[in-house]
Amino acid sequence: MKKTIEDINVKGKKVLVRCDFNVPMKDGKITDDIRITSALPTVKYLMENGAKVILMSHLGRPKGKYNPEFTLLPVKERLEELLSKEVKFLSYETVVCDKVRALADSLCDSDVMLLENVRFRSEEEKNEVEFSKELASLGDIFVNDAFGTAHRAHSSTAGIAEFLPCVSGYLIEKEVKFLGDALENPKRPFVAILGGAKVKDKIPVIENLLNKVDTLLIGGGMMYTFFKAEGYEVGTSIVDDESLELANTLQKKAKEKGVKLLLPVDSVCGREFSNDTEIKVFDKENMPKDMMGLDIGPKTVELYTEVVKNAKTVVWNGPMGVFEMSNFENGTKCVAEAMASLDGITIIGGGDSAAACDKFGLADRMTHVSTGGGASLEFLEGKVLPGIQVIEDK
Ligand code: ADP
Ligand code: MG
Repeated sequence: MKKTIEDINVKGKKVLVRCDFNVPMKDGKITDDIRITSALPTVKYLMENGAKVILMSHLGRPKGKYNPEFTLLPVKERLEELLSKEVKFLSYETVVCDKVRALADSLCDSDVMLLENVRFRSEEEKNEVEFSKELASLGDIFVNDAFGTAHRAHSSTAGIAEFLPCVSGYLIEKEVKFLGDALENPKRPFVAILGGAKVKDKIPVIENLLNKVDTLLIGGGMMYTFFKAEGYEVGTSIVDDESLELANTLQKKAKEKGVKLLLPVDSVCGREFSNDTEIKVFDKENMPKDMMGLDIGPKTVELYTEVVKNAKTVVWNGPMGVFEMSNFENGTKCVAEAMASLDGITIIGGGDSAAACDKFGLADRMTHVSTGGGASLEFLEGKVLPGIQVIEDK
């Protein structure tokens, strides 16, 4: 168990909080503030308990240089509206300097301050110790609450913890609790559903989950690599030719471990990668040379939803088809609906899978939709995330 903000005394302390304020922007305006609102429980707890709150985050990819396009000023303004309180902010290209330090030192209990985009410093992504030290010099305690960047060892996510005591905020606590519990203490049957575009991206996830689940359902673009490896015609579907052997090895491993690895029995195919293309459903054995598989077919939907219905824990990563196009969304939608209706634990990891849940209005009916795309994937791979590793154990 990791220590959280509730395990320490924050009154009167300067508490540096790494948030994920990497919000989508258009023409200098925030187009979706969910990442800011998600950080509020931690910020408010610290304010209510008399901490001097110093927030930091990255925004976009300024490539280690000051660039006004990536200033956190719009985030400061949105935070002020949401907190109904002034958020102190100094925009220096160095992020930390004597003036910023003086401002931090002048904070009263419950005051809130925001640092400029930490990626204005080239040292940030290199996790250089001097920058970690500079950041640490601003505060007494480090709180990591940026799950979305927890898989990166950067100065503001990991390096800083060498110089300050480190605990988690509510967001990271929640992610670790749901993702961690699902993987380590699952109620069984435990089913994982894996899809998405490429097998190669998901091999480590499949390998890790083979050690944990009872059943693994495969869908999405990666299914065609498995089909081709078995010797079937896959037409113009996307295939990872380098991973053919691996696909067979994974099937063998599943057998050895007594895990049911299910592949689709049919697909919805299109002539081209387009929503307006000619569409036809084919069984796995009958795919034509000149069409591509873009979704799991109706027989597979029936098979997979039945498996989901009987599960007690379901972890899902990767859409079943090209859900962005309405003609190829059905597989993803039906599987997501089966999960939403389940009386069990349902966990969504992966950026596109979370987007699919949102698109179908099902996110609220899942036990947990992870906020970190890449981070949740690495968690499912069984990796130790550097931003979580640095948090002190209870
Ligand atoms: P996540 O972000 O949830 O981890 P991925 O990034 O691995 O998911 O994969 C998502 C993408 O996979 C989607 O953009 C979707 O369109 C694509 N995809 C799913 N099935 C297919 C398919 N049969 N052919 C091509 N692309 C597919
Ligand atoms: Mg993705």
